[in-house]
Amino acid sequence: MQLQLNLFPGGLPKALTLSYDDGQVHDVRLAGIMDKYGIKGTFHLNSANLGREGFLSKDEVVQVLAGHEVSAHSVTHPHLEQLPAPLAVHEMLEDRRALEQLAGYPVRGMSYPFGSYSEELIPVLRSLGLVYSRTVNATKYFGVPADFMKWHPTCHHSDGLAEIWERFITQPLSHSLCLCYVWGHSYEFASQDNWDLIEDFCAQAGGREDVWYATNIEIYDYVTALRSLYFSADRTMIGNPSALDVWISVDGEPLRIPAGTVHRIEA
Ligand SMILES: [Zn+2]
Repeated sequence: MQLQLNLFPGGLPKALTLSYDDGQVHDVRLAGIMDKYGIKGTFHLNSANLGREGFLSKDEVVQVLAGHEVSAHSVTHPHLEQLPAPLAVHEMLEDRRALEQLAGYPVRGMSYPFGSYSEELIPVLRSLGLVYSRTVNATKYFGVPADFMKWHPTCHHSDGLAEIWERFITQPLSHSLCLCYVWGHSYEFASQDNWDLIEDFCAQAGGREDVWYATNIEIYDYVTALRSLYFSADRTMIGNPSALDVWISVDGEPLRIPAGTVHRIEA
């Protein structure tokens, strides 16, 4: 019997998530395109900029981003790893507090301003309740990170996305989770006048029955639940201590392990 931890919710073999930074007003148009095609993603916001000219208003964060995840990006967009720890703490904890008042849920994710971080910074961020942080280091691959505080995306939207998506959808089911993670800034579509790039991508990528469309934190929570499974020595008993149903492959067939149960595979 072969067990593989390679399926997303519903037994789907692949997942797509988008991740956009800085909260400029162009996020409104981007979220509209994503909503039109059923694509989900995460918007990483600097709370000091909300309501300023060129940036999202607080009402827009509540209304326009309702179907997506609101996530942290620091209050004022500094190089966090260059700050004394107490100032980095203030940047992230205050950003969380301000964004949570709008989002109405605990904000647990972030992306690094400028994509920069250090090994010393990561435990400081963890201590603030942050569970993942996206970098800007494109992998061009489809894995999920061992350490979500170093969540390297698949690619920036301007970095060969069409070719990467083709490789993604034609890739056969593998032994591990298959995630396409695209990041960028919505103002790039405005400044480069290429909104058709993301509209075409969302039109092509949306509506597929083999892809789970999820926010960054939904990916994190699911993968964490999947990694919490425990197995008997003979592999016939599989425990899921988490609050989420998870799916695994047993001899190539999808098997749902309901939340909080121990599943027994009949011989
Ligand atoms: Zn930024």
